[in-house]
Amino acid sequence: MKILRFCSLLALSLPAFTVSAAEPRVLASVHPLGLVAASVVSAEQLSVLVPPGMTPHDFSLRPSDVEKIQAADVILWSGAEGEPYLAGFAKRWPDKQWIDVSAFAADGHHDDDAQDGHDDHDHQRGDSHRDGDVHDHGDDAHDHAGHHHDPHWWLNPEQMVAAQRQLAQRLGRDPAPFAAAVEQQLAASQQTLSPLRGRGFFVFHRAWDHWVEHFGLNQVGAFTLTPEQKPGLKTLQSMRTQIEQGNVVCVFSEPEFSPALVESVVRGTGVRRGELDPMALNIPLTVNGYPAFLSDLTQRFETCLKNDR
Ligand SMILES: [Zn+2]
Repeated sequence: MKILRFCSLLALSLPAFTVSAAEPRVLASVHPLGLVAASVVSAEQLSVLVPPGMTPHDFSLRPSDVEKIQAADVILWSGAEGEPYLAGFAKRWPDKQWIDVSAFAADGHHDDDAQDGHDDHDHQRGDSHRDGDVHDHGDDAHDHAGHHHDPHWWLNPEQMVAAQRQLAQRLGRDPAPFAAAVEQQLAASQQTLSPLRGRGFFVFHRAWDHWVEHFGLNQVGAFTLTPEQKPGLKTLQSMRTQIEQGNVVCVFSEPEFSPALVESVVRGTGVRRGELDPMALNIPLTVNGYPAFLSDLTQRFETCLKNDR
């Protein structure tokens, strides 16, 4: 009797997929992490939490989402800072394999740091000095950890290679093809974007820090730090001035958010417009989805930044 009970407890404590013959079910919190996962996970075994048209900024869990989490064996997510709605579940269901991609940041910054006051992405806080975003977008006083703390980790390709390696190893798959494909795409992107490094641009929200840093691009500012915060009149005026002075050749909007704000600033200036989607919704979940995303982004930057007029 005692032995039997011990055995059944042991079975329960093992991850579900080592017990059953079925393939593990993988849940990616957002579509871009789904693209990373799709490199080693079949479409049938993969699901994505945040639905099309939504972002981690405006997402909250419905009961059907909780069922998705419950059904998953492995969860690829951005960590408590970027996706606070998942943090409680990571604690509640520790037997699932939670792969927090923020833990793979090259400088060792990840969510644990958020506890000692680096909560610059605290969406609830009504900080008026965000208006200053357009002027000092790098390492001003309130932005303790700077761009390294941008929780849009999927725009840091090297970090995704590291996170994917862990996912692949846990699934018993070979991570090498993904790493090679990303490396190859990055080399091509580098070649395309290097000549455009000096060309100034505005992005819609501060999602692009990792990308901008990787390629050394000239991001002059953003409309807002996070999309829940509308920029003030002073910020919009200053952005307009930057465009008029020729410091900015391209202004990017994002499909998840109304372009009205962007239009109000660029109207009549003749500055070039582009669109960037940090949620990568135009890229299907396929084995090569993530490198395809990087390639698509590179083309969008190139088209908007190039000097052909
Ligand atoms: Zn965002």
